[in-house]
Amino acid sequence: MKKPFFCPNSYYSSIYDIDLENLISLGIKGLIIDLDNTIIPHKIFIVSEEVSSWFKNLKEMGFNVCVLSNNQAYKVKKISDKLQVPFIYNAIKPLTWSFRKAIKMLGLDKRNVAIIGDQIFTDVLGGKLFGIFTILVKPMNPHEHWWTRKLRIIERKLLRKFISEGNL
Ligand SMILES: [Mg+2]
Repeated sequence: MKKPFFCPNSYYSSIYDIDLENLISLGIKGLIIDLDNTIIPHKIFIVSEEVSSWFKNLKEMGFNVCVLSNNQAYKVKKISDKLQVPFIYNAIKPLTWSFRKAIKMLGLDKRNVAIIGDQIFTDVLGGKLFGIFTILVKPMNPHEHWWTRKLRIIERKLLRKFISEGNL
């Protein structure tokens, strides 16, 4: 069944709940991962042990990974360096140029790459416009920019609709 346009392919409570074996069975070999509120709370600059081991596990499972963030260089570089993954900052998601750059970085074809992020209107929309598998996770922290909080109201309505219609 074809999902509605803004509906992600999958939806999880957190990155830790993502069924990685299932991604492998779908042919996914590369992951483009959002930073803020997906792997690290908004305004936090410390990488938790939990996140570090999750990234370590991704690499051990054979995934090529990169971080794709709309945030600025300082935080994105600091966190990605800790996790030892390549990164793109100031990505301006949902614009797709940065997704193109990301799959080049991963050295993979679109068909084998998924985006993981916490926002429908940046991560999921960008992934859909670019044409890759999209995974939405719940945001880690409710403290966000005022414009993000406004978008969350629409996001929550959409999610309720997708869930009630059996699309998620
Ligand atoms: Mg985010």
